[in-house]
Amino acid sequence: MDYKPEPEPLSESSELLFSFGVIADIQYADLEDGYNFQGNRRRYYRHSLLHLQGAIEHWNKESSRPRCVLQLGDIIDGYNAQYKASEKSLERVMNTFQMLKVPVHHTWGNHEFYNFSRDYLTNSKLNTKFLEDQIAHHPETVPSEDYYAYHFVPFPKFRFILLDAYDMSVLGVDQSSPKYQQCLKILREHNPNTELNSPQGLREPQFVQFNGGFSQEQLNWLNEVLTFSDKNQEKVVIVSHLPIYPEASDSVCLAWNYRDALAVIWSHKCVVCFFAGHTHDGGYSEDPFGVHHVNIEGVIETAPDSQAFGTVHVYPDRMMLEGGGRVPDRTMSYRKE
Ligand SMILES: [Zn+2]
Repeated sequence: MDYKPEPEPLSESSELLFSFGVIADIQYADLEDGYNFQGNRRRYYRHSLLHLQGAIEHWNKESSRPRCVLQLGDIIDGYNAQYKASEKSLERVMNTFQMLKVPVHHTWGNHEFYNFSRDYLTNSKLNTKFLEDQIAHHPETVPSEDYYAYHFVPFPKFRFILLDAYDMSVLGVDQSSPKYQQCLKILREHNPNTELNSPQGLREPQFVQFNGGFSQEQLNWLNEVLTFSDKNQEKVVIVSHLPIYPEASDSVCLAWNYRDALAVIWSHKCVVCFFAGHTHDGGYSEDPFGVHHVNIEGVIETAPDSQAFGTVHVYPDRMMLEGGGRVPDRTMSYRKE
């Protein structure tokens, strides 16, 4: 049971601009409950769909209905591939999302690639790039087709950016391609284990097969978008399946080249927060540059009597994460100029 104190009354200057929803790691499968790899966390494969339904019902009846929902990846579990149920399970989850009265932006995680090829995903309902906004006369802010990333403006002067954390990975890359060979080489250079999913003995434990990273091309594009946002005095929210800040995550779950992504973000002043999934346990830290890193608790490891989703309320000076169930409330103030 999750007791939540009432939010403090807002001061008169606190005008709510808009809200948005976040949800992570639904990992639905039509299976009995199971356990994670370490065997210490229960996974509620079937119940995850009811958790999603509960979150959608909450968002649909919010007095200030969210502008959009950000789905942070791993929408269905990798087990579906084993049982040849990938398409059926995806359809079930997407049918549930149909009840949501606002647009949902889908991020891709490792479990997407356990079930589907990148080509399949590109042509599926999990590709929400059609919801992107383009910046007129700034072709450098148009993302390449080589990775799945885009940006959009849910409210004037606020830009949201979806990143592809599996742009550089051995997952979802055609094994006959030079890119696959390049990614496998990077992974093997950092991980001498026979089982490439094992972080055992690694100096940089994030170099495991179930993670990935950002190509230089994608980071250059991110840099261009953030340059525009700085100039245009926008506030930016970034989402990615993999977290990039060690203090907010466990060391195994980070993106391979998380430092490169942090370096780009830290060279700009516009980024308010970075939302990620993947860790299931959740986490939060404000970095030395005032960027708030939030890992949302995974639906899949959330007991039936709780919940796991967030609603973020955006004000002129801060964002307030209102947690549902085991997601804690957070206040994320903007950096002082
Ligand atoms: Zn994941």
